[in-house]
Amino acid sequence: MESDLTHARAARMVDRLGPLPAAVAEVMRRVPRERFVPDGFRDVAYEDTPIPLPFGDATISAPHMVALQLEWAELAPGHRVLEIGAGFGYLAALIAELVGPTGAVCAIEIEPALTREAARRLAASASGRAVRLRNSDGRAGWPDAGPFDRIIVSCAVGDVPWVWFHSLTADGLLVAPLGDALGQRLARWKNSRVGGSWEYGVSCRFVPLRTVLPSDI
Ligand code: SAH
Repeated sequence: MESDLTHARAARMVDRLGPLPAAVAEVMRRVPRERFVPDGFRDVAYEDTPIPLPFGDATISAPHMVALQLEWAELAPGHRVLEIGAGFGYLAALIAELVGPTGAVCAIEIEPALTREAARRLAASASGRAVRLRNSDGRAGWPDAGPFDRIIVSCAVGDVPWVWFHSLTADGLLVAPLGDALGQRLARWKNSRVGGSWEYGVSCRFVPLRTVLPSDI
């Protein structure tokens, strides 16, 4: 069980982020970010700032960016969701809360040490335990677990792999930072009967989707 202080700090973080969709605000109050950051960063877990992950150059996104990813994904109970780039698992835990027991969350992380950390941290929370986590290259997607109502990408992509589009349901949404290390926009692809379309939002800065596997280095 979380302490009252933890709840108060998470609630203050959400209040400072400004108006959010009610369901997003509610899960960000409920899931303690401090459980999904490296131990040395627990005291800044409720600041609106990115926090470095201990392997590679990726970060745990700032809470306002996480809120935006969730808002753009328009998650609802029952959705099947794929996340690419799970890090320590914070976003996956929030997604699991939003889709509830009738939904499903599959999350892929390429870095083995991060996958192990995410597994350990997700296992400690009731909804997190439902997340299926896999250590693999997200570029290949997770076709046999699809189709997905939503795909949320937590690293920057220049070209969206075709398999991601193919794993989306007919009215599915894909939310991804489009661009490279120099500049990105948060974007979303909306499937429709006549094809689909992109919508572009704020500029952002995610670590690029890795195309070199740990075993290649
Ligand atoms: N969503 C995370 C933050 C992720 S940072 C959180 O809530 O904490 C981006 C992550 O994408 C990093 O952990 C990085 O290792 C991972 N990543 C980069 N390239 C990848 C790839 N090709 N496949 C899967 N994960 C990848």
